[in-house]
Amino acid sequence: MSLASHSGRFAAPATNAAGQVPLIGLAPDEMQAVMEQAGVPKFRAKQVWHWIYHRGVKDFSAMANLPKDLRALLAEKYAIERPAVAAEQKSSDGTIKWLLKLSDGQLVETVYIPEEKRGTLCVSSQVGCTLTCKFCHTGTQPLVRNLGAEEILQQILHARDVLEEWPKSGEKQTEGRELTNIVMMGMGEPLYNYDNVSKALKICMDADGLNMSKRRITLSTSGVVPQIVQCGEELNVNLAISLHAPDDALRSAIMPINKKYPLAELLDACRNYPSLSEQRRITFEYVMLKDVNDSDDQARALVKLLDGIPCKVNLIPFNPWAGSEFETSSDNRVQKFARILEQAGLDAPVRKPRGRDILAACGQLKSASVRTKKAMREKDTASE
Ligand code: SAH
Ligand code: SF4
Repeated sequence: MSLASHSGRFAAPATNAAGQVPLIGLAPDEMQAVMEQAGVPKFRAKQVWHWIYHRGVKDFSAMANLPKDLRALLAEKYAIERPAVAAEQKSSDGTIKWLLKLSDGQLVETVYIPEEKRGTLCVSSQVGCTLTCKFCHTGTQPLVRNLGAEEILQQILHARDVLEEWPKSGEKQTEGRELTNIVMMGMGEPLYNYDNVSKALKICMDADGLNMSKRRITLSTSGVVPQIVQCGEELNVNLAISLHAPDDALRSAIMPINKKYPLAELLDACRNYPSLSEQRRITFEYVMLKDVNDSDDQARALVKLLDGIPCKVNLIPFNPWAGSEFETSSDNRVQKFARILEQAGLDAPVRKPRGRDILAACGQLKSASVRTKKAMREKDTASE
């Protein structure tokens, strides 16, 4: 896959506190242009790219086929190290949650979910979220900023490090690794940070790097219609839509973004998403909220709404958090709701909550980071 810089024009990238330019997150032509300024030829920049994204090295000194003086020059001018890990928690079900500390001290969460035949990394796109879906903990986080392409990619590189999944010399990026799938379902609304998400995912799909197939990448959105269209045209990764209600009145009440992009517009964008087929379906996420969106009538309304869209509906038991105003629908209710969808020919798997014991399940991300920040503040105060 060929990559062009996103801006189309080369602008000098920012430097870190040590005055070095972070290379991770630059498109290939941007990386070449940056290095050219220091007199590094293109073919060397390509080798560096390969070391970073194919072999996963974190240190220029490990780039064995580069001359020693060049490695020293690169180490002086550029940065490729990983973010600090503020905390790592393992769930009894094998899920791992990392709290990564970004260069400005902000914290972001990444969750690895091992399953029988695949392993999925749930990646964050923002610190917090500007949207305020009523059932979501992330939406209550006061601090919000976009993550840079570097910070999005670093979550993936970090997981590959921990799982020890980088190919050895001469090996290909093969299937059969533990980390097989990426979902943009962590903190934040990825389509409100489209440029950085798209840049990171293009790098993730690059053949001479992580080489991940677009079929193994899923972007979940609350429904930012214009960027759904752009995402379909430019990335064409799998699309998941946080739907959660079968009509505009209820959806607007629990997801304020629906007032801006109502269901008719959203479902139109879904219908027109490129390359949809029975093999490549849209996933509609539907969090089961007791007595709010879980009735038989609502299931039937959902069937009607999704008519003609190749899709499946993922029913997600609501994951509670302190202060939330909702309750999870009973198992019976969820099963009954699922049956109505299935009888109408829709796949409606019930998502098994993962990592609940470490607050790593859908919609629970945030609390640990806020607690850690509080703990850090208390520690700082104590040592003053
Ligand atoms: N902002 C994006 C992606 C992150 S949210 C989006 O909204 O799609 C990931 C998924 O978790 C979304 O489907 C979201 O609706 C769901 N979710 C949020 N809070 C939840 C909760 N408390 N319980 C279960 N799922 C939740
Ligand atoms: Fe943001 Fe998604 Fe949570 Fe809504 S569900 S507040 S869009 S992270």
